[in-house]
Amino acid sequence: MKMGKMKPERIARFAIDLLFPPRCVFCGAVVPPGSQICRECAAQIRPSGEVRCEPLPLRDRKVLCAFLYPYEGKVRDSVLDFKFHGRKENAAFYARQLAARVRLAFPGAGFDFVTSVPLSAERKKERGYDQSELVAAKLARELGVPYRASLKKVRGNRVQHLLGRLERAENVKGVYRLVGQDAADGKRILLVDDIVTTGYTLAECASVLLCGGAADVSCAAVAKAFPEQVENSRSL
Ligand SMILES: [Zn+2]
Repeated sequence: MKMGKMKPERIARFAIDLLFPPRCVFCGAVVPPGSQICRECAAQIRPSGEVRCEPLPLRDRKVLCAFLYPYEGKVRDSVLDFKFHGRKENAAFYARQLAARVRLAFPGAGFDFVTSVPLSAERKKERGYDQSELVAAKLARELGVPYRASLKKVRGNRVQHLLGRLERAENVKGVYRLVGQDAADGKRILLVDDIVTTGYTLAECASVLLCGGAADVSCAAVAKAFPEQVENSRSL
C-alpha cells in the first residue's frame, strides 16, 4: 500500500489497526486492517432486510420499528459484549448497517434528528457509556442529521426482562421525560434502542416525544428478541 497517497486520518487508522488488530464484531477473530467482520460471519449473518418493521404497542398511533438482526447466536454474543463488556467499537459497525436498513424502511423520512432510549444517569456512570446513545450518534452521522439527547430517564425501574408482559407495560410508565420543553415540537424523529423485545420501552419513549409535539416518530434497533428468549436469559 502506498502510504504517500493516503489521507492522514486513514494513515492513523491503518497504524492503529496494525498496533491493535481489529476483531470481528461477531466472533472476535482477528480481521485485516480496515475490516470489521470476518468472511465467515459476513456470509452467515446478514441484516434481515426482508423482515418487516414491527408495529410498537402504542394505542392511538402507529409507530414502526426497523431492526437489523434477530437476537440469537453470534448476534446475541456481539450485542452482549457491546452492552456489558466494553466493546464500544461495535457501535460503528451497527450504525453503518442500521443506516442502510433505515433508508430502506423509511424512504424519504426526512428526519430532523436522531435520539435514543437513555440509560439512567447512574447506570451510565456505572457502565461508562450508554450503548444506545453510541449507536444513535454514529447512525445520525451516517444519515447526515444531528443527534440530540432529547430524553432522560427520571427514575429507575425494575429490569424489564424479569417481568411478565403486563408488568412490563406498567414498569416503563412515567420513567422517561423530555429534555427541554420544545425539544420535540414539530420534529420528525428517529428513536434508537439496542434491543427491542416487547417494544414497551420504545413505545413509551415514542409516546413522550409525540406528547411533546413530535410530528412523527420512527424507531430503529440493532436486534429484535422474542420475549421468551429474553425471559430465559439471565445475562441481559
Ligand atoms: Zn466473525
